[in-house]
Amino acid sequence: MDCLFCKIIAGDIPSTKVYEDDLCLAFRDINPQAPTHILVIPKAHISGCNGVTEENSGVVAHIFAVIPGIANAEGLTGGYRVVSNCGPDAGQTVPHLHFHILGGRQLNLDMA
Ligand code: 5GP
Ligand code: ZN
Repeated sequence: MDCLFCKIIAGDIPSTKVYEDDLCLAFRDINPQAPTHILVIPKAHISGCNGVTEENSGVVAHIFAVIPGIANAEGLTGGYRVVSNCGPDAGQTVPHLHFHILGGRQLNLDMA
């Protein structure tokens, strides 16, 4: 499949991994928007938030269960933000479900 993040999972494109298990992979964003900017993705290809179903949503719960440990390992004691952009209006550029973890500074409180 011609999917950038599937290629990262396969190891065909290098990434700086910070966490991996059977279901998901976390790696540093190539263009960080904050001192810590990590992407967490399911290993199974899901197109984005619109691709989440009753059948595959377990991996979303799993990702949220591993995020606190990733944040703790990054030293994000002051908090962090988890973001998933869905579709062009939100600026989604990679059509494989991903959750941004942003932290390490006071984040902009304007959500839009
Ligand atoms: P989106 O804009 O879809 O919400 O987020 C996609 C993210 O993937 C962007 O923050 C972008 O910097 C990141 N990205 C794009 N290509 C690569 C890559 O080849 N490697 C890594 N590590 N991040 C990438
Ligand atoms: Zn993919």
